[in-house]
Amino acid sequence: MQTFETLLADEQATVALGLQLANACHRQTTIYLHGDLGAGKTTFSRGFIRALGHEGNVKSPTYTLVEPYELPPWQVYHFDLYRLADPEELEFMGIRDYFTADAICLVEWPEKGEGLLPAPDLDIEMRYHDTQRQVIMTANNEYGRALIERLELC
Ligand code: ADP
Ligand code: MG
Repeated sequence: MQTFETLLADEQATVALGLQLANACHRQTTIYLHGDLGAGKTTFSRGFIRALGHEGNVKSPTYTLVEPYELPPWQVYHFDLYRLADPEELEFMGIRDYFTADAICLVEWPEKGEGLLPAPDLDIEMRYHDTQRQVIMTANNEYGRALIERLELC
């Protein structure tokens, strides 16, 4: 399946989707999270990161740009590039070092790092839909399609 679309009624539903997708990941993974402020990107990431074993808070790394989580067998990197002034800052951060074989990268505001980020396996777009959220996932390769298929089985 190339795309997957659903409505998320509340915050719990957003967290639950993050959890399901995290459980589907089984190799190096890059996910871009698109959507306006407050659309639910960080809420989704919280469900995702907690599913992989993190027990504390998950806050958006708005000022540090990236928050690392060591969650064996994965290194999870949660990026928030909202405040990135110039994509070149990513070069100074050594951006390539983050996308290793054991890395799962969630990237909020990937548009700000255009040209310097690896291509995503999945694009996730979150939109306001009255008091709910609409989510549209698009697979960009075979692995992305496999992730979507696993979600549909849930
Ligand atoms: P972003 O990272 O996209 O800026 P956040 O996840 O920080 O957004 O904030 C999303 C806000 O919307 C939170 O207040 C959260 O409680 C709420 N929210 C998340 N998912 C839903 C949903 N499915 N329906 C309604 N509200 C939601
Ligand atoms: Mg956020």
